[in-house]
Amino acid sequence: MKPRITPGQPLRLMSVHAHPDDESSKGAATLAKYAAEGVDVLVVTCTGGERGDVLNPAMDRPGVRENLPEIRRAEMAAAREILGVRHRFLGFVDSGLPANGEPLPEGCFALTPLDEAAGRLAALIREFRPHVVVTYDETGGYPHPDHVRTHEVTVAAFDAAGDGGFSPEAGEPWRPAKLYYQGALSRAWFQAMHDAMTGRGLDSGMGAVLTELPTDDTVPECTTRVPCAEYFEVRDRALLAHATQVDPHSGFMLHDRNVEREVWPTEDYHLARSHVEITLPEDDLFTGLRGRDAVPDQ
Ligand SMILES: [Zn+2]
Repeated sequence: MKPRITPGQPLRLMSVHAHPDDESSKGAATLAKYAAEGVDVLVVTCTGGERGDVLNPAMDRPGVRENLPEIRRAEMAAAREILGVRHRFLGFVDSGLPANGEPLPEGCFALTPLDEAAGRLAALIREFRPHVVVTYDETGGYPHPDHVRTHEVTVAAFDAAGDGGFSPEAGEPWRPAKLYYQGALSRAWFQAMHDAMTGRGLDSGMGAVLTELPTDDTVPECTTRVPCAEYFEVRDRALLAHATQVDPHSGFMLHDRNVEREVWPTEDYHLARSHVEITLPEDDLFTGLRGRDAVPDQ
């Protein structure tokens, strides 16, 4: 039996992801920043990433593929430590990324009935009692069945957790105040970084990424930009802790960090639901929840 999560600090943030490493590539500087400021931050990972590949050539060696689930758990524990957050696996099995027309593997997260998966997350919401929940938009941010499912499960759990009629045995109802979708790794971000680097005479290394990304930007409207440039370095360390998933010599690790801090010093979100009054745009996920009337403890 897992130890109960006893809610700690007055402000609590839950960030829900599909696989270990997603928390470090999407919104990690935000998590590190809030954790450093004393917010109680819980990362929830829906699956163990069991069907992931080894994406770092240096880690593609005997003993790694065979033990990927255990290795990814250890990587996740290291990233959690670096970000300064708490962490829970929801316990579902990675669906993998089936080729076009291939069926999803039996028993995987994407095939788990929505009620069952959302019920598990709703119970965790009642246990941790977050004021703010963050997840992916309805596209999943990228077309992996586990990412799309993570969106569906989180939205359903966000609504169900506060409903006294829903699963009374799963704890006291708790209604989080705000739900956000990630705006990380948008085409606009890659383009801005590419333009800034080439404008400075640097090789951006992003040409290939930009040709692969669809030109129609599916990222939801940005309502909230969280300044967190001073935590990009923590984000990078957390990312590199996922050594089987992140090649330090390619992709996201290549762009110049000084340029990034200058050109795009925020991580961006879309406010999808709010039960508190706010004015948009915001620069803080806890707008409307701080100060005198702070936290609505229901
Ligand atoms: Zn993922």
